[in-house]
Amino acid sequence: KVIFFNNLSDFMEKTLVILKPSAIQRSLVGEVVSRFEKKGLQIVGMKMVSLSDAILEEHYAHLKEKPFFKRIKDSMQVTPVIVMALEGLEAVDVVRMMTGPTNGRKAHPGTIRGDFSVSVQENIVHASDSPESAAVELKRFFTEEEIFSYPRPTFANLYAND
Ligand code: UDP
Repeated sequence: KVIFFNNLSDFMEKTLVILKPSAIQRSLVGEVVSRFEKKGLQIVGMKMVSLSDAILEEHYAHLKEKPFFKRIKDSMQVTPVIVMALEGLEAVDVVRMMTGPTNGRKAHPGTIRGDFSVSVQENIVHASDSPESAAVELKRFFTEEEIFSYPRPTFANLYAND
C-alpha cells in the first residue's frame, strides 16, 4: 500500500521509550539511543528516573493480576531507567518494529530485543504499542515542559556561512 503524505505533520507522532534496567546494567544506553537517532527519529524528551510502585502499577495495569507481576515490577526498579520521547513520521510503528516482540529469544536479529536479549522479562526496552497508548504514556512520564519542539538541522544549520 502506498501512502501519499500530503500533509506530513498529520502523520507525525510521538512515542515513549523506556530504557529498562536491563539496558542500564548492560551499558546498552548509548547503543540503543544511537539506533533511534541513526534511524532518523528525533529525541524530543529524555531523562533518568526511578519508577515508583504506583507508576508501575499504572503502566503495567494490564499485567497487574498476573502471578509474575511482582517480579516484573521488581525488575523495573533495580536501577533507575531512562525515559525518552521520540518523534517522527509513524514513530509508534517504526519504534515497535525496531524493538521487536516481547520475547528476546523470538525477536529477529536486527531488532533491539533480537540483538541484545535472550529473555522475556529482561528485554532492554519498552515502546508504546499504539498512538493512543503513546499519548497516555508520554503524559505518565513527562510534563508538558519536558517535551520539546525544535527544528531539525537543515543545510543552513550545518554549514552556516562558510
Ligand atoms: N513480561 C514478562 N513476562 C510475560 C509478559 C511480560 O516478564 O509473560 C514483561 C516484559 O518485560 C514485557 C513487560 O512485562 O516487556 C510488558 O509486557 P507486554 O505484554 O506489555 O509486552 P511489551 O509491550 O513490552 O512487548
